Amino acid sequence: MSDDEPLDENPTTFADLGLSGTVLKALSAVGYERPSAIQEATIPTLLGGRDVVGLAQTGTGKTAAFALPILERLDKGQKQPQALVLAPTRELALQVCEAFEQYAGHSKSVHILPVYGGQGYGVQLSALRRGVHVVVGTPGRIMDHLDRGTLDLSELKYLVLDEADEMLKMGFAEDVETILAATPEDKQVAMFSATMPAQIRRLSAKYLRDPQEIAVRKTTTTASNVTQRYLIASYPQKVDALTRILEVENFDAMIVFTRTKNETETLAERLRARGYAAAAINGDVQQAQRERTVKQLKDGKLDILVATDVAARGLDVERITHVVNYDLPIDTESYVHRIGRTGRAGRSGDAISFVTPRERRTLSSIERATKQSLTQMHLPSVDEVNATRLSRFDDAITAALGNTARIDRFRDIIAHYVTHHDVPEADVAAALAVVAQGETPLLLDPADEPVREEFRGPKAQSRDRDSRDRRGSSGPLRTYRIAVGKRHKVEPRQIVGAIANEGGLSRGDFGQIKILPGFSLVDLPAEIPADALKRLERTRISGILIELQPDEGRAPRSGGPRSSGSRYGGGGRDGGRSERGGRGRNDSAGYDRGPRKPRKPRTPRD
Ligand code: AMP
Repeated sequence: MSDDEPLDENPTTFADLGLSGTVLKALSAVGYERPSAIQEATIPTLLGGRDVVGLAQTGTGKTAAFALPILERLDKGQKQPQALVLAPTRELALQVCEAFEQYAGHSKSVHILPVYGGQGYGVQLSALRRGVHVVVGTPGRIMDHLDRGTLDLSELKYLVLDEADEMLKMGFAEDVETILAATPEDKQVAMFSATMPAQIRRLSAKYLRDPQEIAVRKTTTTASNVTQRYLIASYPQKVDALTRILEVENFDAMIVFTRTKNETETLAERLRARGYAAAAINGDVQQAQRERTVKQLKDGKLDILVATDVAARGLDVERITHVVNYDLPIDTESYVHRIGRTGRAGRSGDAISFVTPRERRTLSSIERATKQSLTQMHLPSVDEVNATRLSRFDDAITAALGNTARIDRFRDIIAHYVTHHDVPEADVAAALAVVAQGETPLLLDPADEPVREEFRGPKAQSRDRDSRDRRGSSGPLRTYRIAVGKRHKVEPRQIVGAIANEGGLSRGDFGQIKILPGFSLVDLPAEIPADALKRLERTRISGILIELQPDEGRAPRSGGPRSSGSRYGGGGRDGGRSERGGRGRNDSAGYDRGPRKPRKPRTPRD
């Protein structure tokens, strides 16, 4: 272990911050290991009863920073709402509700109610009548309830303004002020904002009492001998992305960081199941066991360590050529610490961060804080993976040929077979390869290519323009409209990424995409399940709600101007295959095996 680490040897625990009982239990079930910087500063202050102004963005753990102190002090016996969280959008309101539910351990006796426009009043009214502890809503709808007299805030103890700058930007200033003024004098107020414009300062001065100002942004520097890349991947795509990276990257040892303790175990298990020598370390693993694991990594008995920030503190193993941030860290200090686990002893290193479409802003804040930009990389394609596999296969043959003593023993047996069966030697070699390979296909099937957030080439596009039937892989398509367009600088890959992730769609489900100045038109399956449609209404691209809905025809439907749109999917799996010349599984013809990189034959081990 080295001593150049920015993280504390004895990190603060959630219990140190004054949290207790069921809240700690819930946190342990969620698997958070230690408080983030904003949590460490905010939780004790709020528990102490003081107002807070927090300068913090999404991705810093700010939701838990205000939710945990509220839950800690919750009076379950009080029927009137005791906490109100104002959020700029219904999407954020729902996220905050989910977080509250999670931090309350999904307890049936804690009642959290989302209140936003667009949802019927009925559900909200009956829940309010039954009694609600925490209300999370958009200012407009909260005002509606106050005007109708259906929301009683007379007993309110805690008021949170989440993403306050966004709320003001969206024109909620007046509503927010009215709500602040209409609630009890002695309530505690916590205001979170990514920026601190004059309007926010004014609001704070007028409605908060001697607030503690908390800022978590820090500038830190990262070593220049580490190449930093990022890959956009939704949560469900991460395992596949990691396995492909493991196949194509020329790594020696790797450390993969996850956000929670539970995830380290699950992921290590999944990697082992895929044949990799992987182990998990986290704060719950005993010191002795941890040291044994680190030694195995040093000795080359392990190649992949899946770790949390706490567990990897001070880890100094020269063999680590790669760091993968499977989950982005919750603060930039952790980012710097993580990537410092590679490039040890003056060597070069590689850091790859998985960024979910929603975390693009977190990525920008890491780039700002470290004053370095990360290069985008794409998911290694099936062809790239297969080229690497073939190259390793060749290497394995070369290595075996080097073992002359064993080769000599088998040569006679094979010669005997060739003479007695009148079969060419190449066929016998191929048959032996089949035996060696077992049931696992040597190569990936090109049809397994998942959605790639990229433009397809002009050739494919022009062929697709001729799509008379407008069908996707799962049936007929129809045109949908989304509320982001050229004006919002949206790109087709963002549209595909966001809609595919949130709607559970695959590449073959996409037809044409046309980006117009104020909105875009996207061809998607005519029948999208109701729950997916609901999620898609709430989806955001670059922070803007896309409000996906069927297009009612203002735009041309076929030919004409639409033909300038791009098309994804090539009409489903068959389309994808024929584009590749109909190559089937295990057919290596056409793979560019490229210049041979020397690499050691390596995992997956069988
Ligand atoms: P937020 O900034 O509140 O949107 O949180 C960003 C992400 O960090 C969410 O996925 C949380 O579940 C996660 N998170 C919050 N606090 C912690 C923590 N102390 N340790 C690990 N993950 C956390």
